[in-house]
Amino acid sequence: MQNQASGSDYDVILVGAGLGGLTAGALLAKVGKRVLVVEQGEYPGGFIREFRYGPYKINPAIHSIFGCNPGGQLGQGIIDAVLEHLGVRDQCQFIAVDPFYRAKFPDFQMDIPLGRDAFLDAYLSHFPGDAEGLRGLVDLCSVMFKEAMQFPALPRWQDWLLMPFRSPKIFRYGTSTLASVLDRYLSDSRLKSVYAVCYPYLALPPSRLSFFIWSIMMAGYIEQGAFYCQGGFQNLAGAFADGLIKHGGELLLEMPVNKIRVTGGSVQGIILGNGQEIDAPVVISNIDARKAFQELLEANEVPTSYLRRIRELEPSASVLGLFLATDLDVHALGIPKVTLPSSWDLEDTYKSALHGNPKLAAVHVPTVIDESLAPAGEHLVIIQSFVPAETERLSPSAGAAYAEGLLDLAEQVLPDLRKHITFMVGASDEEQQKYPLQRIGPIYGWANSVGQAGPRRLPYKTPVSGLYLAGHWTQPGSGVWTVVLSGVNAARYVIGKDMSQAIWSLDL
Ligand SMILES: Cc1cc2nc3c(=O)[nH]c(=O)nc-3n(C[C@H](O)[C@H](O)[C@H](O)COP(=O)(O)OP(=O)(O)OC[C@H]3O[C@@H](n4cnc5c(N)ncnc54)[C@H](O)[C@@H]3O)c2cc1C
Repeated sequence: MQNQASGSDYDVILVGAGLGGLTAGALLAKVGKRVLVVEQGEYPGGFIREFRYGPYKINPAIHSIFGCNPGGQLGQGIIDAVLEHLGVRDQCQFIAVDPFYRAKFPDFQMDIPLGRDAFLDAYLSHFPGDAEGLRGLVDLCSVMFKEAMQFPALPRWQDWLLMPFRSPKIFRYGTSTLASVLDRYLSDSRLKSVYAVCYPYLALPPSRLSFFIWSIMMAGYIEQGAFYCQGGFQNLAGAFADGLIKHGGELLLEMPVNKIRVTGGSVQGIILGNGQEIDAPVVISNIDARKAFQELLEANEVPTSYLRRIRELEPSASVLGLFLATDLDVHALGIPKVTLPSSWDLEDTYKSALHGNPKLAAVHVPTVIDESLAPAGEHLVIIQSFVPAETERLSPSAGAAYAEGLLDLAEQVLPDLRKHITFMVGASDEEQQKYPLQRIGPIYGWANSVGQAGPRRLPYKTPVSGLYLAGHWTQPGSGVWTVVLSGVNAARYVIGKDMSQAIWSLDL
């Protein structure tokens, strides 16, 4: 593995090989740019990468993604289209995840299937009284998805003026919270909780979660399907990395970027962790924007107002979790994902978790979908809940209570799990507790609140000339589908495409 860049100057340098960075880098390489992607980790992929522990392949983050479908109601999925465009479509196979997840409340449970009709039938069989509202809600999400795909990547003033006519649903609901739209469409309070129970996928409770972001995710999953990458999501990252290399780009691993060089307000290049200086007129940052602007750049190189904005934006929550293997026969569970709130009050479940009492957990058993991730006879179980964005290690007693709380919830669907643990990440570390918690985050870049959704996130283009952003710290938001879209648009910006055109276009 090379530990320095082969050249001393490039057209474009990507800082970070998350999926947003890899997408932008590979697309720019394909149009003939000399591209270098620098990643501090051992493998590309950022949050989507797998970790190998002996025979176990554990993905601490991704449960499922959408946008991998070759066709369908909402057209070809973005991820499928980009993989095809790069000529690496055959490098990863996707497994459909349907039913999508189980909502398990203390006295109620329901499996949520995908596809508009199956989704509605499942809900209507439990909540027939809200039929009209449910249909309206599913259709609203679908229309908002379509409007969003036609929305300009960089709206001009006339686009905002025409918004009530071109994107009437986004105009009306684009600044609503999920809770306010549920109140408008549904009457049964239990139905509202069941419908919103996968709020952990966006890491904010209904009262704060942007309905715009929610509608894109729900329409994406319901109409395009949920998918797992066979053999693990590292294969998806590998396909994008191969797309980069196939088109002449270079990937430098295990090497941090220590500095983004700027002179007279314009990017000049970077300095690597080994001291190597590399020139480039364009740098795209795919890393935590706070780190990029507060650590990799000097304060006097960035306008004060921009730095203030970065300080004022709210990062998303982080997660604490247990990653383990079990010899329980989890096939009896029959579904890979269960969301378990311990009460009907979803706001309380979120607040309690942030205060150290996980009243809600997401239990993910990826080996129900793909048995190759663990040895025969064993299954992987990932149990997670929220903590505030910057939480450091909990005290030993608080950590132990948090872990026991997660296991209590998990044992509601996997009885006797504690007695059947065959492996646990971190358990060999003497410093750790009996059930060692693993923290990841902030998991979605900026929080998915109304004030930080879509065009309200940091723009792709920064005030430093030649410096752009890709990934979940920029527009349009978080999640694998979304950061691929951000990478497409960062590439379009660098190439000089007309950004007033629709946000989704592979016309590069
Ligand atoms: C627990 C969890 C669950 C999730 N579940 C899902 C899900 O089910 N479905 C879904 O669609 N999304 C999910 N997401 C969100 C999704 O994973 C992210 O939004 C997305 O992967 C972020 O991609 P990114 O392009 O912003 O880059 P990131 O993944 O953030 O990658 C940034 C890269 O930059 C590198 N880097 C940082 N600093 C430097 C430096 N100085 N020099 C060089 N490299 C550097 C990092 O090592 C990293 O590889 C989940 C996230 C988490 C954490």
